[in-house]
Amino acid sequence: MNIEQLYRQLIMEHYKSPKNKGFVADNHYMTVHLNNPSCGDEMTVQVKIEDNMIVDIKHQGTGCSICCSSASVMSITLMDHTIAESEAIIKEFYEMIKGYPYNPEILKGDALAYQNVSQFPARVKCATLAWKAAEQAILKIKEGIYHG
Ligand code: ZN
Repeated sequence: MNIEQLYRQLIMEHYKSPKNKGFVADNHYMTVHLNNPSCGDEMTVQVKIEDNMIVDIKHQGTGCSICCSSASVMSITLMDHTIAESEAIIKEFYEMIKGYPYNPEILKGDALAYQNVSQFPARVKCATLAWKAAEQAILKIKEGIYHG
């Protein structure tokens, strides 16, 4: 199996058996809903932070396999990281998705399965939708912490 097949298989595994999927009615979570009109993807991401650390992430959405699988990968990639670490990981993910060099010390694991997306500009928004929602949730939590 070559690396592209391996990546495709990883994406399909997360699509079929997503991790951390669901929605909780709990105001300890910051909830952000985003959609991607160009593909019809809808994504709700919930982030719970305790002591500057992401302790839980939930995602619930409908859309294409790239979008839904990417939400699952985002959740396991950012979990148990600090706010600053998560922001750095998200930034490196965007770099990789755009086809730019990324830092493999920061961005690791299943997230790397999306590096070929840079060759398909129409799918970039699909791959980043859940990550953008998580980024906004983290930002809102930070504003609450530092300015609230
Ligand atoms: Zn999509």
